[in-house]
Amino acid sequence: MVSRVIPVEPFDLVIFGGTGDLARRKILPALFRRFCAGQMRGDERVIGAARAEMSTKDYRAFARAAITEFDDNDACAAEHLDGFLRQLSYVALDARSDAGWAELGAALRKGRIRAFYFSVGPGLFGDLAERLYQWKLADAQSRIVVEKPFGRDLDSARALNATLAQHFDEAQIYRIDHYLGKETVQNLMAIRFGNTLFEPLWNSQYVDHIQITVAESVGVGTRGEYYDRSGAMRDMMQNHMMQLLCLTAMEPPAKFDPAAVRDEKLKVIRALDPMTPENIVRGQYEGADGRPAYRDQVEAPDSRTETFVALKARVGNWRWAGTPFYMRTGKRLKARASEIAVVFKDAPHSIFGADAGHHRNILTIRLQPNEGIELGVTIKEPGPGGMRLIDVPLDMSFAEALGPDSDDFPDAYERLIMDVIRGDQTLFMRGDEVEAAWEWTDPIIESWQEAGDDPLLYATGSSGPDDALALIHRDGRRWREIRP
Ligand code: NAP
Repeated sequence: MVSRVIPVEPFDLVIFGGTGDLARRKILPALFRRFCAGQMRGDERVIGAARAEMSTKDYRAFARAAITEFDDNDACAAEHLDGFLRQLSYVALDARSDAGWAELGAALRKGRIRAFYFSVGPGLFGDLAERLYQWKLADAQSRIVVEKPFGRDLDSARALNATLAQHFDEAQIYRIDHYLGKETVQNLMAIRFGNTLFEPLWNSQYVDHIQITVAESVGVGTRGEYYDRSGAMRDMMQNHMMQLLCLTAMEPPAKFDPAAVRDEKLKVIRALDPMTPENIVRGQYEGADGRPAYRDQVEAPDSRTETFVALKARVGNWRWAGTPFYMRTGKRLKARASEIAVVFKDAPHSIFGADAGHHRNILTIRLQPNEGIELGVTIKEPGPGGMRLIDVPLDMSFAEALGPDSDDFPDAYERLIMDVIRGDQTLFMRGDEVEAAWEWTDPIIESWQEAGDDPLLYATGSSGPDDALALIHRDGRRWREIRP
């Protein structure tokens, strides 16, 4: 596979929170990989900024350690590392005071694209936007990148949008949802809108139901403090799962451009029927085999935070009337596995009789592990003995189909950071999308708070609470196996 790498325009990128966990694990390794791939021209500036006093030499050592630990791409030879590190510098500054901002101004060059990555807690977004404005560091071409969580409810998301809007146009704001940077998620759009095969069938007439699963096998680990204020609904469903639902359900946009794609996604969120209690199940994991229960990993021993949600959503429009979207996400489940499965209806009439069994086409878009797309088709079981049918996958594992380099896809952050530099917002969430998602999510969380009951406990290593199984069984359907 020959990939075409077109270098981006020279840029200066400031990583506020440049010494934090996200910078270490994702942003710096992603930049390094794009550098190795030849997407940078070699005179970029990447400026780490945080309060800690640190020299540029120390910051380069910090970045070297981070890249060595978190970049798992062997193709990206260590010989490039020194060249990349030479682009890095560090400025000590405080988002909440004037300390360091003059130095940051001096480190930036005129005539370059400027991108400011807000890799800090959302409580600092407003301060950063304000100081960038005060110190005249951002012009109309500059971009800011903000991370999740984007608010914790509709009011806070609106407030955050309003704060950023004081100094930046919507066209300058890049709200990251890294799920949108995943290769298979983009492939979902390519599959749907680049082929004539699927789109005519992509509706309630032919699709029985859709399942979206994002399962993790790990628990909250050391993130208990953050997670306990969030929960699966806020941490996964409102953003990542909602984005997957949008890309699966949206109408074909007229163009693959930011306005057209995001308009269509927004329409899906707005078409969602309000959730009703019988269509949603929340759970919390128990401990097992020396692995602690959720409540033993957070401060509140009686925490009601959910680590699992399963729900049946309905998109109330012509295309999807009558087709349920079953969605579930959780921690400490059987395996780490994420997929979107489009389950088509039975053939209207079986000419093969009862012995042929019950068969359905299922299109599976696997997000992790082993990114790929699989179409289950029904064929005749080979050999004599009549017409017995079996289901076999028409499998397009990227690794197999696209050659030896295909497991070397850019990480979502690589793609998204380069899109920021290119000025392409297609794979970023617009402010109104985020608000619409909260508008749908808020009543669910409020109803849980009002009811005041505990989430259902589920066993570590299971598929979630039994009620989540019942949610789909009562419709005569079953969840797909959660398997790695
Ligand atoms: P973190 O490890 O706590 O790092 C925070 C960074 O912000 C540090 O570099 C810190 O350095 C800096 N900082 C704190 N207060 C500051 C101030 N007043 N002025 C300037 N810099 C300041 O956090 P993180 O995990 O990297 O997360 C960063 C953001 O990304 C958060 O919004 C988080 O929700 C989001 N996010 C993180 C992940 C992840 O995997 N880590 C995933 C998705 C989203 P000093 O203390 O030296 O100032």
